[in-house]
Amino acid sequence: MNKLNLKLLKLLYGNKEEYISGEKISNKLGVSRTTIWKHINVLRKKGYIIDSSPNKGYYLQKTPVDIIAEEVYLGLKTDFIKDIKVYSQLNSTNEKAKELARAGSDTNTVIIAEEQLAGKGRLSRTWYSPKDTGLWFSLVLRPEILPEQAPFLTIIASLAVVTALKKLKFAPVIKWPNDILLEGKKVCGILSELSANLGGINFAVVGVGLNVNQKSFPAELTEASSLYLLGEKKLDRIKLLQSILNAMARYYQRLLAGDDSKLLKEWKGYLNILNKKVTIYSSKKVYQGIVIDISQKGELLLKDEQGKTHSFWAGDVSLRKQEGRKK
Ligand code: ADP
Repeated sequence: MNKLNLKLLKLLYGNKEEYISGEKISNKLGVSRTTIWKHINVLRKKGYIIDSSPNKGYYLQKTPVDIIAEEVYLGLKTDFIKDIKVYSQLNSTNEKAKELARAGSDTNTVIIAEEQLAGKGRLSRTWYSPKDTGLWFSLVLRPEILPEQAPFLTIIASLAVVTALKKLKFAPVIKWPNDILLEGKKVCGILSELSANLGGINFAVVGVGLNVNQKSFPAELTEASSLYLLGEKKLDRIKLLQSILNAMARYYQRLLAGDDSKLLKEWKGYLNILNKKVTIYSSKKVYQGIVIDISQKGELLLKDEQGKTHSFWAGDVSLRKQEGRKK
């Protein structure tokens, strides 16, 4: 994020009804009129339409459709996010976030890519992330929680996405541990990664891939869909991202405040596998049984056909609902 662009945008937004003179901006921001002019051009290149007139000054006519860090930041209702970085292309926002976190980058930073070339799913799977259509972002956090509470980061990120989707009148369902479905189709995946040692968590990266405006998917992604395809209208990705981050801020606060039980309860309310028959693939073994609960730590508890209970962590398993089978 560029601080001057941010301040400049704030002033332009504050004067939405009229022009604001270069002199006034220059006085308010304490920089020369030439600097203002240069930054106005930077904003124009980012997609803002700003009219300028020699006598009247500058006037913001239209905001961009591309994701602009300053634009996202200005619409947040929280000071939870400290920095936002937007890249036109990354291999993976999680990888970039980890790289920055390792280099000591600020905490509470959002890394966004307009396109991921090798978006990450769990267990080395890839996440299809075409250009300019979805929300592909990762949050760098340094939460003061115990490493074993890390599954809660995925839990609160799912709740944040669910909250934003419900505001848009969708009816989301969570597929344990990290996917969000609409009408049985996968629209969002969440991937949390952790760097921890005996002393606790160094940093956590929470990645979100949300299919927003895609009009189609590659044939092999038979279970995928987008908000556009299901809601039949194009959505403003910046507003949606702000809505997710605002919700994430509230859930994160609750997590730090030790509200685990209520968060877990809320999350369980959206799960589609409680009391259902499932097949679990875990390190070359296959388990079949009924999901009896999610433990207080976020583990899936499965009762197999012999009545034995097994617990699974998100990282190790792949899960299939046994649809169409008789009980
Ligand atoms: P799983 O759902 O099998 O546990 P992940 O949550 O790690 O796996 O997601 C990766 C899988 O999701 C991929 O193997 C692919 O089948 C599917 N996938 C990849 N990209 C997308 C996308 N943009 N939307 C929906 N599904 C996707």
